[in-house]
Amino acid sequence: MNKNSSNIMALAPNTSNKRETVCIFGTGDFGRALGHKMIQSGYSVVYGSRSTQISNLIPKDAEVLGHAEAAQKASIIIIAIQRQHYNFLTPLAEILHGKVLVDISNNLKLNQYPESNAEYLAQLLPGSKVVKAFNTVSAWALQSGTLDASRQVFVCGDDVEAKQMVMNIVRALGLTPLDKGSLLAAQEIENYPLQLFPMWKFPMFLSLGLTIFFFIYCLVLEVIYTYIYEKNDLSFYIAITIPNRVCPVMALILLALVYLPGIFAAIIQLYRGTKYRRFPDWLDRWMLCRKQLGLIALAFASLHVLYTLVSPLRAYVRWRTSTGIISQALNNQTEPLDHTNAWLSDSYLALGVLGYFLFVLLGITSLPSVSNNVNWREFRFVQSKLGYLALIFCTAHTMVYGGKWFLNPLAYKWYLPDIYILSLVIPCAILVVKFVLILPCVDKPLTQIRQGWERNPKYSE
Ligand code: NAP
Repeated sequence: MNKNSSNIMALAPNTSNKRETVCIFGTGDFGRALGHKMIQSGYSVVYGSRSTQISNLIPKDAEVLGHAEAAQKASIIIIAIQRQHYNFLTPLAEILHGKVLVDISNNLKLNQYPESNAEYLAQLLPGSKVVKAFNTVSAWALQSGTLDASRQVFVCGDDVEAKQMVMNIVRALGLTPLDKGSLLAAQEIENYPLQLFPMWKFPMFLSLGLTIFFFIYCLVLEVIYTYIYEKNDLSFYIAITIPNRVCPVMALILLALVYLPGIFAAIIQLYRGTKYRRFPDWLDRWMLCRKQLGLIALAFASLHVLYTLVSPLRAYVRWRTSTGIISQALNNQTEPLDHTNAWLSDSYLALGVLGYFLFVLLGITSLPSVSNNVNWREFRFVQSKLGYLALIFCTAHTMVYGGKWFLNPLAYKWYLPDIYILSLVIPCAILVVKFVLILPCVDKPLTQIRQGWERNPKYSE
């Protein structure tokens, strides 16, 4: 049997074996979607509802009873009801005694209540075994079967046996349970679906801030300066020229910012002579969002490639090319090929192509499906060694592009350096410091520190 078919078998719900009866309180969106999926997986479902009238929306084959009656039919009860209505459960305490109650609820705000909903439920019904689960799965995904992105189900609870029973249900539905420990973890699990790209916030804000800054910088030097001093209206630069200057600059700076925290960490460890002291919080946070910074850098690099590819289609570029040809024809003179220029232009394009290729490789290996299939050494080889190589290629690409122009006083309009000169500051500084760090006299003590050696051990034998 091939690998794919065995995967499909593992994910397909088991409909052949009849499983136990599960009770669901609440016939709302989630209760119905979960009930539907459970029936498909071979469970008998009985709903506990305020109204025992059967509606078309309720899964066929499910029973609908009053809460007390339904609870008596099962040892596991899934509470598909909002927390604010949990009070109605207290009169049922006796019936629910010893039963497993699955809290699937979410809140509207992070840390909305002092205790998690699951802990609140456990306080209301101390005789029941409360387990938190399913809150990160959406009713829509359950119903439509599009669970690929949310196949993982966090489960936590104080009673090991109860937790195991719930994890068995999760598995039977074709989902993957992840044991998060005791009910104390419930708050974190409840906050999880409310977070909005937590690791992306800093990289996004930083990229937005830098993009706005460089866009305005270019606008001032390329459009406003030219208009004031040369009375030349180049406002159309806003559409392609300026974005195509800002994108490579952003790609290079953000790629450099992926490697800068590693440099800081190495310097701090060398200075302290130990790896057993925590880095400052800002550095820890920065390290954690390196992947996001790298992916945004890749997005800017890709935009740069697209802008460059459409360049020959631009009216302005076509006009410049044709006027060049016409002026040569009028003067009856063909300009000879400038070999230095040809070398420079081919080299900078080649460096750009290689840099972009490595950039894409870094992006691909950061995808979980790929990174899960390489070992730690392979991952480090790509992300660190090839990553630095990408930084070298991209820095060289910018340097060769600027070439002698960077030394030309005309490049400093209003005494401000060209945007490309600015973009080189951080990458060049990183590459110089990295070069120092890999010198054997520095690399040796750093490697020792990273293997656990301490200059002034706190606990000497
Ligand atoms: P819903 O559609 O509003 O359904 C809630 C159900 O609770 C109602 O259908 C009702 O069922 C019952 N109910 C309402 N007021 C009640 C009261 N005063 N006393 C007793 N029962 C009452 O909500 P939902 O979307 O299914 O969400 C249910 C729970 O699942 C929530 O805690 C939510 O955070 C959680 N959740 C939902 C999703 C989702 O995608 N929808 C995802 C994860 C977690 P009866 O009419 O049958 O009594």
